[in-house]
Amino acid sequence: MPLGEFALIDRYFRELGIARDDVLLGVGDDGALLRPPPGFDLVAVSDTLVEGVHFPVGAAARSVGHRALAVNLSDIAAMGAVPAWSLLALTLPSVDERWLEEFAAGFGALACEHQVALVGGDTTRGPLMLGVQVLGFVPQGQGLRRAGGKPGDLLCVSGTPGEAAAGLALLQQTIRMPAAPRTTSELDQAAQQLRRRFEFPTPRLALGAALRELASACIDVSDGLLGDVGKLAAASGCTAIVDIERLPHSAALSALVAAQRVTEQAALRYTLAGGDDYELVFAVPQAQRARLHELAACESISMIGELAPAGGTEPTNVAQLRRSGRWLASEELAALAAGFDHFAV
Ligand code: ADP
Ligand code: MG
Repeated sequence: MPLGEFALIDRYFRELGIARDDVLLGVGDDGALLRPPPGFDLVAVSDTLVEGVHFPVGAAARSVGHRALAVNLSDIAAMGAVPAWSLLALTLPSVDERWLEEFAAGFGALACEHQVALVGGDTTRGPLMLGVQVLGFVPQGQGLRRAGGKPGDLLCVSGTPGEAAAGLALLQQTIRMPAAPRTTSELDQAAQQLRRRFEFPTPRLALGAALRELASACIDVSDGLLGDVGKLAAASGCTAIVDIERLPHSAALSALVAAQRVTEQAALRYTLAGGDDYELVFAVPQAQRARLHELAACESISMIGELAPAGGTEPTNVAQLRRSGRWLASEELAALAAGFDHFAV
């Protein structure tokens, strides 16, 4: 007999994540009762994943559970906040207990890793869709914003953007692997690593918290590095200048190029416009350069460019690319950055 809605909630979601003292009342009542700590601002974020839009149809349930929470934790990280509570609006086409178990395992493991409690939600029938909200705290007045960057600030990014988009292309077989006997173990390992970057992204929470003292502006990379750098620059009233030579190097992406699975140009496109990276892009005042180097010793950080006065560069896009000190022509820029936008196709 299929599990009823209440039994389903009870079995999979009543005690998911960590138990926290600041949850006075969690799953089971009409609402959760939560007690924020004094002296902190509350940060609220929400992100929805739709099957076939944000993850491939038939994607592994554990990965879907992980990503549904991870994309929200990434927004919390970009605000410099620490996550605490989450809500889950689940729309399911049918009750598939094996799927639910795996989904809950993916969501729950990441929630425990970051001390997040699941305090409520909603369960309905319909096309597979996961709506998640996360609430977190930041010391009063210290939340990081997209606005606040100044001309001259250094532009930095964490990790190796582009890997997740290549991983998704491998999962969807837009990038094809050679037939088994011809696959080298090095190429296999690179492909596996790239798929994992899409399926199990790492929200940069420790970095986000450390940036409260350092960064003038911050954003997470969900829609593609160049586009998101542009959003930070626009909110800060600046132009972003990114040097292609300084982009972080991905060994796994290079392995695909070396094995002629993708061209060098396509690899650069993944890095600049791929999306789904959930890395942080941030601006750091020049005066903080020494502390930035200290932080870079324990976090993977690349300095990729700088902020300039708005309209002070030629041509005048909010995000501008330089190669060997020369501006890329706008057609070349458009070809590289052509979006993986949800409405583009
Ligand atoms: P109501 O009808 O009052 O909105 P529900 O019957 O929808 O309540 O939900 C009962 C309880 O279960 C509520 O505390 C709600 O927050 C929680 N809940 C429902 N679905 C989920 C879910 N997918 N994950 C976590 N909690 C859930
Ligand atoms: Mg009610």
